[in-house]
Amino acid sequence: MAESTDIQEIRNAVRQLCKNYGEDYWLELDRTHGYPTDFVKELTTSGFLTVLIPSEYGGAGLGVYEAAVVMEEVCRSGAHAGACHAQMYVMGSILRHGNEEQKKAYLPKIAAGELRLQSFGVTEPTTGTDTTSLKTVARRDGDHYVVNGQKVWISRIEHSDLMVLLARTTAKDEVSKKTEGLSAFIVDLQDAVGNGLDIRPIESMINHHSCELFFDDLKIPAQNLLGEEGKGFKVILDGMNAERVLIAAECVGDGRYFIDKASSYATEREVFGRPIGQNQGVQFPIARCYTEVESAWLMVEKAARMFDAGEPCGNEANMSKMLASEASWHAGDVCMQTHGGFAFAKEYHIERKFRETRLYQIAPISTNLILSYIGEHVLNMPRSF
Ligand SMILES: Cc1cc2nc3c(=O)[nH]c(=O)nc-3n(C[C@H](O)[C@H](O)[C@H](O)COP(=O)(O)OP(=O)(O)OC[C@H]3O[C@@H](n4cnc5c(N)ncnc54)[C@H](O)[C@@H]3O)c2cc1C
Repeated sequence: MAESTDIQEIRNAVRQLCKNYGEDYWLELDRTHGYPTDFVKELTTSGFLTVLIPSEYGGAGLGVYEAAVVMEEVCRSGAHAGACHAQMYVMGSILRHGNEEQKKAYLPKIAAGELRLQSFGVTEPTTGTDTTSLKTVARRDGDHYVVNGQKVWISRIEHSDLMVLLARTTAKDEVSKKTEGLSAFIVDLQDAVGNGLDIRPIESMINHHSCELFFDDLKIPAQNLLGEEGKGFKVILDGMNAERVLIAAECVGDGRYFIDKASSYATEREVFGRPIGQNQGVQFPIARCYTEVESAWLMVEKAARMFDAGEPCGNEANMSKMLASEASWHAGDVCMQTHGGFAFAKEYHIERKFRETRLYQIAPISTNLILSYIGEHVLNMPRSF
């Protein structure tokens, strides 16, 4: 089905913006571990990073589908969306669960680019994927909560003004369901860092600006509780479905990037007196990856449309993320193979993208955990944990 004119306009405008930030810009940031401040600013002030904010709060009031198109185009251009994507998916928690005061306080400033909401604090070093076992606690003390614990791999926190944090407010053995007793908070990072929150950057394979966080009696005003106390898992889960769809869209963008690169190189590069793409051993893997990536996009579209219609979309969001992350990885691998030795030269940019797209089979949720979700919740097979 052809895309609507509105969607094509979004695509063209994002493509145009991304042209100002070519691949050398991203390579230099990768080399220096720098943050794409100018790119994120332009994406915000042009209204693309804030598409999900309703118009009464200064945003475009569009849906996850449009947001997915933005992220897909960003990745297809060769950019690294990991620097900025969180603003899109963390937004869902505030939009769906924030009270009117919180929305008025934060959304217009986020829409105007005055506040950055780029940080999402869930993962912990000792509990990992087992989110409901997380150990960070928030204890109510008068008009504050006092937070103690530790988080790991929390990305972009040094480049954000706000973080949505998940912590336990009631011990796991005191609740009837393990998903109860968790609460979500909006943390004002300017107040928090150095006053109970200590941040240590993690040196990593990709330029993702991830950090370890240490909470030592951090005080958060009670009014920063997002949704109801003890119901934070639901708040985070809504954000997670949007996150999965958007990450899947990014993977499709990466996949299309790899296929563009591989097919043009296979057409241009001549060895044995003919283009390497004339050999079916080179051509067919690229054609197969194209098929995988385009099929994954269909599931991204479906999940995004269901999310926007307010329908339960956990199954589709998970499936889209799994299909797209595997498709982009396959496309990256084939793109590397097609480029032969030149794939390893940084100036060809592929190896950077190859490293970046590998993440998405592990974060924000690993493939095994998606398969376990489908096995148990969709196919009703026995529960494994
Ligand atoms: C670059 C980067 C950025 C990140 N950014 C953020 C962020 O901003 N915010 C945030 O909260 N988190 C972030 N994360 C964390 C990320 O979400 C986790 O790394 C991910 O969820 C996996 O958790 P883990 O690393 O603890 O792996 P583990 O839970 O230790 O799992 C390790 C492996 O074992 C498998 N496994 C575990 N249990 C089972 C089981 N029962 N059955 C089958 N297989 C199983 C998993 O699938 C995985 O492959 C980031 C991670 C990275 C690397």
